[in-house]
Amino acid sequence: MPTELRVLNPATEELVATVPAATPADVDAAVARAATAQTAWAAAAPADRARLLRRFAAVVDAHTEELALLEVREAGHTIGNARWEAGNVRDLLDYAAGGVERLNGRQIPVPGGLDVTLLEPLGVIGVIAPWNFPMPIAAWAFAPALAAGNAVLLKPAETTPLTALRLAELALEAGLPAHLLQVLPGEGPVAGNALVEHPGVAKIVFTGSTRTGKTIMARAADQVKRLTLELGGKSPNIVFADADVEAAAAAAPMAFLDNSGQDCCARTRILVQRAVHDRFLELLAPAVEATVVGDPLDERTQMGPLISRAQLDRVRSYVPETAEAVRGKAPEGPGFWFPPTVLTGVPEDAPCAVEEIFGPVAVVLPFEDEADAIRLANATPYGLSGSIWTRDVGRALRASRAVRAGNLSVNSHSSVRYWTPFGGFRQSGLGRELGPDALTAFTETKNVFISTEG
Ligand code: NAD
Repeated sequence: MPTELRVLNPATEELVATVPAATPADVDAAVARAATAQTAWAAAAPADRARLLRRFAAVVDAHTEELALLEVREAGHTIGNARWEAGNVRDLLDYAAGGVERLNGRQIPVPGGLDVTLLEPLGVIGVIAPWNFPMPIAAWAFAPALAAGNAVLLKPAETTPLTALRLAELALEAGLPAHLLQVLPGEGPVAGNALVEHPGVAKIVFTGSTRTGKTIMARAADQVKRLTLELGGKSPNIVFADADVEAAAAAAPMAFLDNSGQDCCARTRILVQRAVHDRFLELLAPAVEATVVGDPLDERTQMGPLISRAQLDRVRSYVPETAEAVRGKAPEGPGFWFPPTVLTGVPEDAPCAVEEIFGPVAVVLPFEDEADAIRLANATPYGLSGSIWTRDVGRALRASRAVRAGNLSVNSHSSVRYWTPFGGFRQSGLGRELGPDALTAFTETKNVFISTEG
């Protein structure tokens, strides 16, 4: 069991930091401290909780550049994306602070009494986060969880603990009580598993691969532990012949290349109606080839490196050198670079067409008609996101109803907005985050009947 985590800069392979790895004993001690802090936090007046979360948002805002630079160094994100991510944490905290006022339960006068429905905090929440968007995805969970009166133990991914540790320091600077938001960097099967198995942790919010999500679901079953699972995806980008094909082709590259394709919502299955298939490829190819890949700190860069050598090897394994493909350019190394790649002429059930690669790789598959498009769109075990490009409103609505996914967009690739619900169908997950109901996911509903007869 390694005693420390080594954080490498994915663009240079330089060592950025070493961080002690949490043990099960560390997790146990953190749960005890969090439980004490949570009792006081849950008893605080709602306005006090909201005020402190807004202060936390303001402190994050004041440290945007510092957090963004840290995210570039540990995750290789482009500086523009990293600034957006720090801003997203600020927005999530502000939005969650507003939710505190709406978390009121219900009172219903009934024959013979009064019926009260309470929304109570769950207690200590374990958040297990991935490396692809280390700051926002952690905040999707910790902002509403804290707002609803819980304490949070956050286990960041092995490769990206630094922004999480800094956010916990900023929480203290903003005046949040000690031990309410603790960060436990560590190995998934060690620190992560200790959170899952700890009886003092009431709920696990896990974001990561479907494979790990299944393991966690099985382990959590023993205590019937509450779960939110945000898992993998292989999302379709459906382009009908009646779409604005130029606009669809212009938008398609960044819909799978953003964050080097390490995005659970990446539109990596580009489904194009046969009548416009060749025209679409003619437009797509130069756009993919022109993608600026390189130094994440250069403001003009559109795509940075992959997170690690393991991820680079995984992506390579899906793309044989001999594959029929459109390829962009990428630096040679050091760093974990892979060029933007669009595979054509692959069978629709090839591994690269149905499995999540989590790299800058898409496939283009032709379809015949609307029914064929829907069949292909639903032909993976996933159901997270997807896009539908058409000028026909009826078709857009029919396809939106027929594609089995939690987050769809029409003539757009937008998936994640902190004010709308987000989550997956089928093997892409369980439960929803974000949106107006985010806080209730961190509560237990209790009903009390008070008799007025006695
Ligand atoms: P991963 O499953 O390898 O790891 C995710 C987290 O789980 C890490 O913190 C890891 O340390 C921890 N972990 C690993 N094994 C564990 C165990 N046995 N018990 C407890 N914790 C354990 O995933 P990853 O490679 O870090 O992230 C990429 C995956 O995340 C992709 O599949 C992607 O689609 C998915 N993802 C989903 C969403 C979403 O909202 N649906 C968002 C981002 C990423």
